[in-house]
Amino acid sequence: MHNQVKNIKSNYSLKRHNTFGLDVKSRYFIQLNYEDEFYEILADKYLSKQNIIILGDGANVLFTRDFDGLVIGVKIKGVKIVEENQSFIVVEVGAGENWHELVTWAVNHNYGGIENLALIPGTVGAAPVQNIAAYGQNFEDVFVSLDAINLKTGLKKTFEKSECDFDYRESFFKNGKGKRQWLITKVRLRLSKKPVINASYFETGRTVDSKNKISIISELNNLGKVKPFTIRDIYDAVLSIRLRKLPDIKKLGNAGSVFKNPLVTKRKYEDLLRMDSSLQCYPANSLSYFEDSDSLDQNEYVKIPAGRLLDNLGWRGKRIGKVGVYEKHALIVVNYGGATPDEILNLISLMKADVYENYGINLELELVTI
Ligand SMILES: Cc1cc2nc3c(=O)[nH]c(=O)nc-3n(C[C@H](O)[C@H](O)[C@H](O)COP(=O)(O)OP(=O)(O)OC[C@H]3O[C@@H](n4cnc5c(N)ncnc54)[C@H](O)[C@@H]3O)c2cc1C
Repeated sequence: MHNQVKNIKSNYSLKRHNTFGLDVKSRYFIQLNYEDEFYEILADKYLSKQNIIILGDGANVLFTRDFDGLVIGVKIKGVKIVEENQSFIVVEVGAGENWHELVTWAVNHNYGGIENLALIPGTVGAAPVQNIAAYGQNFEDVFVSLDAINLKTGLKKTFEKSECDFDYRESFFKNGKGKRQWLITKVRLRLSKKPVINASYFETGRTVDSKNKISIISELNNLGKVKPFTIRDIYDAVLSIRLRKLPDIKKLGNAGSVFKNPLVTKRKYEDLLRMDSSLQCYPANSLSYFEDSDSLDQNEYVKIPAGRLLDNLGWRGKRIGKVGVYEKHALIVVNYGGATPDEILNLISLMKADVYENYGINLELELVTI
């Protein structure tokens, strides 16, 4: 039995540690406030042999059952500017810092580059794992490097950008070779002192706005913002859209988008347009929709919104027992209270099968299943 590690909890409910609010248990749980505490776990002959899962705020995970191992909840703090010149700063941030609080800090200091990523739930340490992105901005664009500790050997390593294999909602750490191998302790980001405003994002849809359109520009107009826009204006616009469109994790259990947006050829996209003439698409490596996609090569790949396909099939607002699809967003599965992992998994597989049957598209999970 373990003997060196203090504050370890056994048979511990993870209900407050996953935003779905699933009442699953882990054999052991420990909160990590300092990276050195990890070495106490590694020195413990019993604990070091356990399966280990690293958890931030659990905003992107789906526990499919109780976890027979050790869950490490990361709370490592600290925000420090480690490099600065006239154009930019490099900020080093503890993995357990809250992502939205970091964005707010940056906006308050007029450091640009992450304002479009406001209000994404979760921790800074998880941001590189899924390469978070929203409203025209990608985490990887501001990323410099991160420090991590190997879970098996205790080796400390700094990962440069080229080693992280960032892709759309993917990285070395999520489903690549580094999956479940590393504890990320610190992340470094380059933020600009001469911010470039990105208000390009727009989407057509029938989900939230009576005006049937969500765009940063129309949101800025609604908020009475005038040019030249500031990063605070963008931040306010993103907050305003997100608060209207997405469920509040404190009130309704969910983990954001369940599926990734699928990549299809332009030819396939044109087939889909015959079924839904206002289906949008955007370049495979960007987040803003095309104004006009006619110029695309037939073999070129584009991304299409999975939520729209699900919406077309009537999934938005559908409820099955204690789980359902959020009424304002067809990509978000919600726990109305007391749901089990199986109920969520069952709903997800029904949604996936329906999209495959009707559109011939195999949706991939965005969530991390454990
Ligand atoms: C309402 C809602 C809206 C969302 N909107 C967006 C969005 O717009 N864009 C977007 O990209 N995502 C979005 N998400 C998903 C989620 O917010 C992000 O994936 C976020 O980065 C998860 O952070 P977390 O701390 O909760 O990570 P967790 O869910 O705790 O962990 C996610 C993964 O990262 C690993 N991990 C976490 N911390 C560490 C660490 N320190 N070291 C090593 N591995 C680690 C975990 O093992 C797991 O594999 C949304 C989620 C919700 C609930």
